[in-house]
Amino acid sequence: MSNPKYVFLDDQIVPWEQGTVHVSSAAFKFGSAVFEGVRGYWNAAADEMYLFRMDDHMRRLVFSQRFMRYDHIYTPDYVTEKTLELVRANGFKGENLHIMTTAYIKGGGGQSVTGPIGLAITAQERARTPKITSGVSAQVSSWMRVPDNAMPMRAKVNANYQNGRLATLQAVGDGYDTAILLNSRGKVAEGPGMCFFIVRDGQAITPHTSSDILESITRETVLQLLAEMGRPAVERDIDRSELVAAEEAFFCGTAWEVTPVTMIDKLPVGGGAAGPLTQALQQRYFDVCEGTSGAHPEWRMPIWGAAKADAAE
Ligand code: PMP
Repeated sequence: MSNPKYVFLDDQIVPWEQGTVHVSSAAFKFGSAVFEGVRGYWNAAADEMYLFRMDDHMRRLVFSQRFMRYDHIYTPDYVTEKTLELVRANGFKGENLHIMTTAYIKGGGGQSVTGPIGLAITAQERARTPKITSGVSAQVSSWMRVPDNAMPMRAKVNANYQNGRLATLQAVGDGYDTAILLNSRGKVAEGPGMCFFIVRDGQAITPHTSSDILESITRETVLQLLAEMGRPAVERDIDRSELVAAEEAFFCGTAWEVTPVTMIDKLPVGGGAAGPLTQALQQRYFDVCEGTSGAHPEWRMPIWGAAKADAAE
């Protein structure tokens, strides 16, 4: 896949090759940065690209910046405007996008440094992989999810991702696609970069938000869609042994969308293929993201329609 033409860095759109950060920055030295991953969904019939739940991602980005005590907070309006400008500058049409927005400490110094803050945005085309249909295998990791009173997953801090990276490397090294992390209480938490659901006796279940997980926007979307399907989920602790009892399981997240989990620790989940509730939910999720169902227009921010309206003014 070739690189896009432009990135956004510190108040301007620059050629991809110029999107660099200094080695003396706290972001480089300590991972002192926070980010959001956002999806753009292409709808061919409408000739439109939609950013999915942009406002919710921007709210979380503000929370993460405040949590890190940044001396400057990038506002939702500013970041949204710059994201739209970047996507339009790159001329993205015809393929779904993955957008990364990072507010980082560009200042040097020690661990107490709180600024100056920079903003980087990248947008890249990303097609779905066949595993979205066939499902993935997961290993229950021997790495523990970092507890909230050590390094909270609730804040989307770059350095947090070393925990998921260790679990991913172990899982992939052992022949699995990815990992499931347990928290400090030994209960199921989430995947390295996605939340997790099981279905038992027809009932969808997901760990509650005090399980050392990210307060995922997709998780919340899934909870709402399941309720609208007449299959409301429960939020509670999931024991490790329930992973064997489950008839269906799936991951969810901006990047993972709704991905079936078909094997856990080498045991098939249910029949070893994507289950009926997972499949129905996945279809509904795609319809909402792409805008083909018309439901939940409040979750879709059009990119090109707004541009056409601007040009006509
Ligand atoms: N958990 C973690 C640790 C993540 O990094 C992500 C991806 N942002 C998720 C869950 C899913 O969150 P969201 O649905 O907001 O993308």
